[in-house]
Amino acid sequence: MDLIRDAIRTIPDYPKPGIQFRDVTTLLKDARAFRAAIDLLVQPWAGAKIDKVAGIEARGFILGGAVAHQLSVGFAPVRKQGKLPHRTLIEEYELEYGSDAIEIHVDAVEETDRVLLVDDLIATGGTAEAAINLLRRAGADVVGAAFVIDLPDLGGAKRIEAMGVPVASLVHYE
Ligand code: IMP
Repeated sequence: MDLIRDAIRTIPDYPKPGIQFRDVTTLLKDARAFRAAIDLLVQPWAGAKIDKVAGIEARGFILGGAVAHQLSVGFAPVRKQGKLPHRTLIEEYELEYGSDAIEIHVDAVEETDRVLLVDDLIATGGTAEAAINLLRRAGADVVGAAFVIDLPDLGGAKRIEAMGVPVASLVHYE
């Protein structure tokens, strides 16, 4: 796991003072670390009979696409509002200041699909919670959520597990 942790860059005071931004672009450009991260993201779900991976814009597309390829399953993009061309389901969620909204296509997942949600990082869990609500509204069974980074102090993983969705993350920053 040191390989993964060492490949993640921390940018102090981004996007605002006091925030330590965990930057996975340095992991993505490192072939060994990227390969290892995808292998480790997939591992806990080996027996979970995943039918589809859903990735959250934008870094969740890169990681989720690779995870989907590894599992030989399809990929469903969860996008910021207004980016998807077909009919969508939309879910609003609260941010520290204000709110945001994400969408999926109405036919992004099948009612019988067992879905694995993937993103780079879970903080408060608000984004992942909204994505799970969307996938459930589309009829899917969200069987797990996988993140490279968890910030446990912000409680996101607990929040998602309280929804009945197991969470697995590779690196934790207190
Ligand atoms: P949450 O909704 O509070 O769990 O925030 C998670 C979302 O914000 C994810 O989509 C992350 O990509 C993004 N995010 C929050 N903090 C960071 C960070 O330090 N590095 C990269 N992404 C972050």
